[in-house]
Amino acid sequence: MRVHVDTEKCQGHNRCYALAPELFDVDDFGTAVVLNDGVVPAGLEDKAQLAVANCPEYAITITDD
Ligand code: SF4
Repeated sequence: MRVHVDTEKCQGHNRCYALAPELFDVDDFGTAVVLNDGVVPAGLEDKAQLAVANCPEYAITITDD
């Protein structure tokens, strides 16, 4: 599983980082960036889903690769 952030949509609310700091960080402009190329470590799948559900801009997606 891998998470992706659409930086065009991201408005920097940082909810993803607050909910899942293991998966996301925030750059100097306040835009979310994925850690570890977006690869979701085992056991953090629920947090990835939570971040998707809580992004107000629908900027986070998940793929199965
Ligand atoms: S929650 Fe969504 S809009 Fe907010 S920083 Fe994360 S990706 Fe960007």
